[in-house]
Amino acid sequence: MPFVINQEDCAGCGSCIGNCPNRAIVRSDEKVFITAMCSDCGACLSCCSVGAISKGSDRTELDSRKLDAALKQKLGLDKNIAAMKFYDKAPAGVPVEKGPHFWCGMCGDVFNGEGDPLFFSHDASTCGGCVNIGLRAPRATREEFETATNASVVGEGNLYVSKEVMTKNRNAFPQFKKRFAGLVVGSLEQMKSPDLVIFPISAHQLCMISTAYAFETGELITGVAGKSTCLMTIPTALMDNRPVFCAGDHGGRMFMQLSHDELLICFPFQLIPGLVKNLDRTVYANL
Ligand code: SF4
Ligand code: SF4
Repeated sequence: MPFVINQEDCAGCGSCIGNCPNRAIVRSDEKVFITAMCSDCGACLSCCSVGAISKGSDRTELDSRKLDAALKQKLGLDKNIAAMKFYDKAPAGVPVEKGPHFWCGMCGDVFNGEGDPLFFSHDASTCGGCVNIGLRAPRATREEFETATNASVVGEGNLYVSKEVMTKNRNAFPQFKKRFAGLVVGSLEQMKSPDLVIFPISAHQLCMISTAYAFETGELITGVAGKSTCLMTIPTALMDNRPVFCAGDHGGRMFMQLSHDELLICFPFQLIPGLVKNLDRTVYANL
C-alpha cells in the first residue's frame, strides 16, 4: 500500500479516519488500516500523534495514460474517458474554445474520439449551466433571465420550473467555494493530473465500479436524477470528492451523444487509482 499503519504503534484513536479526504482509512476487527483508495496525499501523517503512519513500499499509480488504459480494459469501455481540470486562467499551450459550445457537447466530442484538450470558459458557453460546473455565467439580459427562470420547460403547457424551484434544486447540491475562469476538457489519456473524469457506462459497468469502490471501505456511490447533467455530476465530485452517477437530462444526453442504455459516472481523479486496483480484487457475475 502507498501509506501504511504500523499496527504495533497504532493506539486505535481513529483520528486519521476522519481526516483522509479519500475516506480510505477504515477500522476493521478493531484495527485501523489504510485501503487501496489511498492516493498518497500525506494528509494523515500529521494526524497521528504517535507516528504510526508511514509511506509504504508502493507509490500510487497516477499516470493518466496508464489509468485510462486500465479502466478501458478492466471495464470493457467502448468510448473514451473525458477528463477536466479547473484553472484560474487559460494554461499555456492549450487551445481556447471560442464557442458557442456546451460543456456537455465537449464531453460528447471526447467520448467519441475528439480528445484534444481545450480550455472552456463562460465566454465560450452558450449555456447558463456553466455556473453548474463552477464557472461564471455568461451575461444575460433581464428578458433572457426571466425567460429562463419563469418559462415552462416541459409538462402539459404548465409552468414546470420557477425561480424558487430552481433555487431549491440547486441548493440540494454542494456549493462552489469560488468560481473558476475555466476548465480544460480533454481525454483522460491526454490530461495530466485532472480534477475529474466522466464517462458513459452500462448498468453492468456501474455494478462493477460500485463493487470495486466499496471494497474494504463500504463507501457507496450515489446517483441523482431530475436536473441538468452538469449539475448532477460536477459539484458533488469536485466539492465533496465523491463519485456520482446519473442518467443525465434530455439536452445533456443529446449533446453527449449517449445511446439509450448508457448512464454517466463522474469520479474525482484521485479516487481512480484505488478504483483501478480494486477492479482487480473484486469478482462479478458474468452478465
Ligand atoms: S489518501 Fe492521503 S490521508 Fe488518506 S490514507 Fe492516503 S495518504 Fe493518508
Ligand atoms: S491516528 Fe495514529 S494512532 Fe490514531 S488510529 Fe490513526 S494510525 Fe492509529
